[in-house]
Amino acid sequence: MSGEDRLVAAAQEARLRAHAPYSDFLVGCAVESEDGEIAVGANMENACYRLGVCAEQSALTAAQQAFGLDKIKRLAVVGGPRGVSSKGEAVTPCGGCRQAIVEAARLADTDVAIICCDASGTERFSTTIDALLPASFALD
Ligand SMILES: [Zn+2]
Repeated sequence: MSGEDRLVAAAQEARLRAHAPYSDFLVGCAVESEDGEIAVGANMENACYRLGVCAEQSALTAAQQAFGLDKIKRLAVVGGPRGVSSKGEAVTPCGGCRQAIVEAARLADTDVAIICCDASGTERFSTTIDALLPASFALD
């Protein structure tokens, strides 16, 4: 299994542990450090909808605890409706998560690679955070 496949598989496993009873759209994310460590997260919804947390934000929190965002190298995000394992459309991070990934990319001083996948992991494409959010917000 390639490093990319391993990262996608970790995101798929995390996706299955999502808490998404309202949208039934499960998303998993796996963040990899420059040393090959992996931290995962999944979307975490709430009855008060606006309190829901995306898989990417959840995984970035875990990555900060596991190895520090200054070591982030790449991440994989997989998503799709609950119970659907056939080929679908690759998901991409939402605008808010793109801004959160930029924050990590700045700490690591790198253009973070992003592998976007459907739930099955077969429909995928690779991009980077600079490509997804070329004019990000910064305080400095
Ligand atoms: Zn998001």
